[in-house]
Amino acid sequence: MKIEIDKVKKKQLDLSESEPASHFPALVEMEKAGECVFTAPVNAQVSAIWEYDHVRAMGKVESAVRLTCSRCLTEYDYPISSDFTIFYTESKGEELDEEVELSDEELISATYSGDEIDVDPEIAEQVALEVPYKPLCSESCRGLCPECGADLNAGECGCDRGGINVKMAALKKIKIEK
Ligand SMILES: [Zn+2]
Ligand SMILES: [Zn+2]
Repeated sequence: MKIEIDKVKKKQLDLSESEPASHFPALVEMEKAGECVFTAPVNAQVSAIWEYDHVRAMGKVESAVRLTCSRCLTEYDYPISSDFTIFYTESKGEELDEEVELSDEELISATYSGDEIDVDPEIAEQVALEVPYKPLCSESCRGLCPECGADLNAGECGCDRGGINVKMAALKKIKIEK
């Protein structure tokens, strides 16, 4: 997705695109690293306006990924939806790339040079930020039994899994020694 500077200086631009994740190198990297599998195209809408000396791009990204729960290894689908605002300032040589949070909405400042802005890297970044670092199929996921590998969400496997029992034994021992 491109914002043409001379066009946006005249009027608001409403842009949209729908691209497969393979269109975005950063998302391809995530798939290669095994972080997720994209199950839907990346849909992006951006409205861009010229303000004083910068472009304000307000947008929304949507997609979906399949994740693997980091506790029980079950695969599950996870929808992605995020709103963002990016301020694009013309690059004056030095890199200005700080993220400033001014409200609940993410406000990002980025730079551009030349007569158009390629929004795709920021679109990919917004999608990547929404993919959980440690995926959990549910907050209360009980994970796998370290003894037999059974999915404890499906019920108790019957193994004596140490943990609490070991601590209890240690406590008993201390009492006996006293
Ligand atoms: Zn799980
Ligand atoms: Zn078990």
